[in-house]
Amino acid sequence: MLRSVFLAASRSSALERLAERAPVSRSVVRRFVAGSSTADALKVTRQLIDDGLTVSLDHLGEDTVTGEQAVAVRDAYVTLLRLLRDGGLAPAAEVSVKLSALGQKIDERLAYEHARAICAAAADAGTTVTLDAEDHTTTDATLETLAKLRADFPSTGAVLQAYLRRTEADCRELATAGSRVRLCKGAYAEPESVAFQSALDVDKAYVRCLNILMSGDGYPMVATHDPRLIAIAEDRARWFDRAADEYEFQMLFGCRPEEQARLAAGGQVVRVYVPYGDQWYGYLMRRLAERPANVAFFARNLVSR
Ligand code: FAD
Repeated sequence: MLRSVFLAASRSSALERLAERAPVSRSVVRRFVAGSSTADALKVTRQLIDDGLTVSLDHLGEDTVTGEQAVAVRDAYVTLLRLLRDGGLAPAAEVSVKLSALGQKIDERLAYEHARAICAAAADAGTTVTLDAEDHTTTDATLETLAKLRADFPSTGAVLQAYLRRTEADCRELATAGSRVRLCKGAYAEPESVAFQSALDVDKAYVRCLNILMSGDGYPMVATHDPRLIAIAEDRARWFDRAADEYEFQMLFGCRPEEQARLAAGGQVVRVYVPYGDQWYGYLMRRLAERPANVAFFARNLVSR
């Protein structure tokens, strides 16, 4: 119930305008978002790398509606990648990109061209790009764009969402040599026709997908904060004889930092997904939808600011 309220809120532009003006914003946003500027993002990235973690940076923005906005997002990534290269932060830091932010809904070809420019900048910096997964209406287009990008930039990563009924088949397609696949549960409100609805069914699907990726030839990126799934992933890595550099864990900035540190101290590769930028609203609403404790944090800050 709470989840659907926040997911509906994540798509409301009226609420977005209200939230941006609300006094709560800054302290709550800071917990999950590195800051609004590239300098903020670089500072957090350096700190995480110094702490033995790796990073994927997300320049926040989705639902780009004009060509100019798409160009601005592309340019922000290209500048970020140049700064990561010059600052010696690549390859420990890569970038995560939403094709919607690059104009996928206006013109798929344009979004592909912008993604190509970002992949080229990442290659120049000695790092990689991962294409985020968005709602199910975009999955085919995103995976087609991924395949085209991988022809020239084979390390470009995919994201698959375990809650989608199609994802086991997509895991089989993508569990090939050189293929980087982030497996997450999925963060959008999806209909029953395409997605498992209960937490148990999603968890079971996640394990089936994990088995396919861990037993395959690709590079699995296990994106979850769920202690049970983390333990199962560690078990499967042992079972399929994967060395610590043949898969990685991924978690969101601000979520279970002590678990991130514990895994890294145990020799695991841990990548922290670090969002930054002004357009934090949709991202923050999806985080609140995931976890009652996040909502309690939000409420506390609402009254005690
Ligand atoms: P949940 O079902 O949210 O939580 C399971 C259990 O984990 C909880 O009961 C609790 O015990 C523990 N837990 C979870 N969060 C916390 C916390 N903050 N503190 C303490 N314990 C906690 N979704 C997409 O749709 N597309 C994407 O491209 C995408 N990229 C992602 C990238 C990364 C690196 C990560 C980590 C997630 C990404 N997601 C993406 C979001 C993902 O789909 C889930 O919505 C999100 O990760 C919550 O699911 P969960 O696996 O963490 O488990």
